[in-house]
Order: sequence, then C-alpha cells, then structure tokens
Amino acid sequence: MQRAEVLSYIALGANLGDARGTLTAAINSVASLPATRLMATSGLYRTAPIKASGPDFMNAVMAVSTRLTAPELLQHLQQLEALAGRQRPYHNAPRTLDLDILLYGHACISSPALQVPHPRMSERAFVLVPLAEIAPDQVSRAKLSAVASQAIKRVASVW
Ligand code: ADP
Ligand code: MG
Repeated sequence: MQRAEVLSYIALGANLGDARGTLTAAINSVASLPATRLMATSGLYRTAPIKASGPDFMNAVMAVSTRLTAPELLQHLQQLEALAGRQRPYHNAPRTLDLDILLYGHACISSPALQVPHPRMSERAFVLVPLAEIAPDQVSRAKLSAVASQAIKRVASVW
C-alpha cells in the first residue's frame, strides 16, 4: 500500500556565498525530491546572525506534501546541504545551506538524529515570521511577539 502524504514545513538558511541563489536553488531541489510536492514558499528574509558568525543570513520556509518518512526526508535534506558545500567546522559556523525540518504532520519525534517539531523553532524570528507567512495558523501572536525584538526584513519573493 502506498504511504499517505504528510505536510511538512522546512526552514532554509544560508549566509555564505550567493545566499539568495543558494536558497532559490534549494527550494527547487526540495520540491523535486522523490514522492514530494511543493505546497507553498515564503518570501526571502534577511536576518542578522544569532549565536552564529559571518554575514547576514537569508532565510525562507517552505511547505511540502511528501510520502517520504521523516528520516528519509532528513537524509535527502542533508544530501542537498552537502551538495551545496556545507561544512561543519564548529557549532553554529557560517553555512552555505542549512535545511531543518520544522514540522512533519503532527508527528513528535525525539531521536538523537531528529527532533520534530524542531526544538528551537519558537525562539527564532527567522523561522516564525516566514512560517507565519505561509501557515498563519501554525504561529500564534504570542509566539511572534516573543521574537519581535529580532531584526528581520522581507527582501523578496522567491520567484
Ligand atoms: P543547526 O541546524 O542546529 O544549526 P546542523 O544543521 O549542523 O545544526 O544540524 C545538526 C544536527 O541536527 C543534524 O545532524 C541533524 O541530525 C540534527 N537534527 C535534529 N533535528 C533536526 C531537524 N528537525 N531538522 C534538521 N536536523 C535536525
Ligand atoms: Mg540544520
């Protein structure tokens, strides 16, 4: 029997090289994953690094409907990070591409390699603001208010 489709939200971030080009290409690559359909894409946002170093980040959030399991989806996202030249020299180092699973349907997952909902998503304006753009029902006003002091600017539509 074919697996059911699950709606998943993925956060994208980049702060090295052509961050905007990298994000646009990554959105296309994620949308082209096997058994996966693109449902929505936020605009692109510019944010200052938080607990990280290097230039400003470009961030976006996308929604996909997928038959991949959450670990399969993570594996594909990590392959795309590697293809974009992602290296992890130290914690929170600047990155060419970061792809995080925010939500995977209503699943709660807590394994060493994968935690969903993403444990730090509520602390980050660069996740909540683009997520609220495409899924307002997923982000309460209270959560948005809690990150209102973090500078974030919508710079463009993706397409
Ligand atoms: P971060 O995204 O926190 O800056 P990394 O991208 O280097 O850090 O990811 C570190 C590890 O986080 C990955 O090896 C991955 O196994 C794990 N991880 C746990 N939960 C998730 C998730 N929801 N999405 C993506 N990676 C996750
Ligand atoms: Mg990550």
